[in-house]
Amino acid sequence: MGKQEDFVLRALEERDVRFVRLWFTDVLGSLKSVAVAPAELENAFDEGIGFDGSAIEGFARVFEADMLAKPDPSTFQILPWREEGPATARMFCDIEMPDGTPSYADPRHVLKRTLSKAAEQGFAFYTHPEIEFYLFKGLPGAGDEPVPVDRTGYFDHTAQSEGADFRREAITMLEQMGISVEFSHHEAGPGQQEIDLRYADALTTADNIMTFRTVIREVALSQGIWASFMPKPFTTHPGSGMHTHLSLFEGDENAFYEAGAQYQLSATGRRFIAGILHHAPEISVVTNQWVNSYKRMMFGGEAPSYICWGHNNRSAMIRVPMYKPLKGQSTRVELRTIDAACNPYLAYAAVLAAGMKGIEEGYDLPREAEDDVWSLTERERTSLGIKPLPKNLNDAISVAEDSELLAETLGEQVFDFFLRNKRAEWDEYRGQVSAFERDRMLPVL
Ligand code: GLN
Ligand code: MG
Ligand code: MG
Ligand code: MG
Repeated sequence: MGKQEDFVLRALEERDVRFVRLWFTDVLGSLKSVAVAPAELENAFDEGIGFDGSAIEGFARVFEADMLAKPDPSTFQILPWREEGPATARMFCDIEMPDGTPSYADPRHVLKRTLSKAAEQGFAFYTHPEIEFYLFKGLPGAGDEPVPVDRTGYFDHTAQSEGADFRREAITMLEQMGISVEFSHHEAGPGQQEIDLRYADALTTADNIMTFRTVIREVALSQGIWASFMPKPFTTHPGSGMHTHLSLFEGDENAFYEAGAQYQLSATGRRFIAGILHHAPEISVVTNQWVNSYKRMMFGGEAPSYICWGHNNRSAMIRVPMYKPLKGQSTRVELRTIDAACNPYLAYAAVLAAGMKGIEEGYDLPREAEDDVWSLTERERTSLGIKPLPKNLNDAISVAEDSELLAETLGEQVFDFFLRNKRAEWDEYRGQVSAFERDRMLPVL
């Protein structure tokens, strides 16, 4: 047993922990949890806790259902929303097959594998997400519009604002769980909030995002409101994205930084951006995985619809931030496609793989988009070589199905399951008769 495991076992006693929740994530990005008694933990560290993988979305075919959840002791935290009574703790798990090999269906493993490939080239991948979500007065009844908790907008500060109270409590709880928050503010939509996490290695960030969603929902429930990461809950208000700032480090050096280069962006940085742009359509099904995701990226609202980059252009898919002359270590690029309802492990794996492909193949970075690309005509965009992102889930699935990069990154099992599941979602959706159609047609036809 290693040092970290010892630390956890000691903490269990000292804090009188009675329940330990073992967390992992299914292929679609839902958090799964199994509670074990502290006495079981030593065994869990050694051998893992067995569970029936066939009951989890995308995990196993029925004949290979036995799987093991092995807790990662570095992720041990006491859950702060369970303060009354005996303490409850959680750890993220890696999923293993009965023979001890990593499960090919574990999204955390997909990301770990992609990170080790980048590490073989000498790179560590860091991410900093800006997570947006809405707060509603409650979960609306089926077919009803949700009611936001307020009517204020971007950066608004109002007395006794529910949003500000909410953010204060949520951030306190996140900090108690070791998740550092850098910024938080009211976003543009009524009731819409944004909380930005401090940058960390991509695996830690993905774990943090899973924790974040849980904390946000718990705090909302405790305040009698409802939080949602749905990408586009309203037709007329902006959607919720999860812009993510990306950087690669080589040892202690930021590999995107080059003093004196344009925007201080190194050749590695330029190729990394080129890789993400080039492969953006194929990985879209992972960065934006729901039917609803594509409605966020239609009408501007600072969500991208076109494949381009710019240095201070909020219509661009990738932005090289220029808030201040950036110090070397903080050189980074902001990817604006990802939404807050993705599976963060798979999304970061796909983005990293696309960027690394750009580096390996030495892709050239296209010219930057200087205009607001939404205000250009179709013809102007075409003449500038600016292509659209997939317009709906169906288009995204179609390009993904032919993607070697995605198949290789996700692995055969996740790739097959994921696309099959998304195809089923699209088929179910396209058969739905909507209020839009009835409202338009019944009065006249
Ligand atoms: N809500 C916008 C999106 O969906 C982003 C707005 C912003 O942060 N500038 O991407
Ligand atoms: Mg922001
Ligand atoms: Mg924002
Ligand atoms: Mg942003």
